[in-house]
Amino acid sequence: MTFDDLIQEMRHCEKCELCKTRQNVVMGMGVPKAEILFIGEAPGAQEDETGLPFVGRSGKLLDTFLNDIGLSRTKNIYIANIIKCRPPQNRDPLPAEWDACLPYLRTQFKFLRPKIVVCLGRIAAQRIMRPDFSVMKEHGTWTVKNGTYFTATLHPAALLRNPNNTPLALQDFRAIQEKINELCDHTY
Ligand code: SF4
Repeated sequence: MTFDDLIQEMRHCEKCELCKTRQNVVMGMGVPKAEILFIGEAPGAQEDETGLPFVGRSGKLLDTFLNDIGLSRTKNIYIANIIKCRPPQNRDPLPAEWDACLPYLRTQFKFLRPKIVVCLGRIAAQRIMRPDFSVMKEHGTWTVKNGTYFTATLHPAALLRNPNNTPLALQDFRAIQEKINELCDHTY
């Protein structure tokens, strides 16, 4: 299977009930050989409409943080959600939906083999890093699994709701930049 095969499979996926209510599958976007992978939970309304992850106001805020440290979804990173289709009314994904969709992220991970993974928000951090991960207490900390460095930061949508926490996210992104300088081959 190639990366393009995977994209095609996701585009037509009917492995869970979310295929019935979605407008678009939000497969992910970025550079196929990116060394840095950002992971969110699931698409919202604007993502469902456009088929792209992290668009709208929270996506713009994320892009600002990325650009601040020399990152861009068109140049050197990949962004994907764990769940590829929008749950209706943004409800929490059901266990069967997590189980059906998570293998796609695992396959994306295998293709990318990123050096750094950044979880965006509590749910992504708890699914990817540790079920009891507290994003408010543990954001910006690092865990190494099989040679890949994992961290988490606050979700941009949460920062829009509570801008007082923005300095915490900026701090996390600076730490990500330092980790990139330490680990990555390319100049960012
Ligand atoms: S959420 Fe995932 S598993 Fe469910 S239909 Fe969409 S792509 Fe398939």
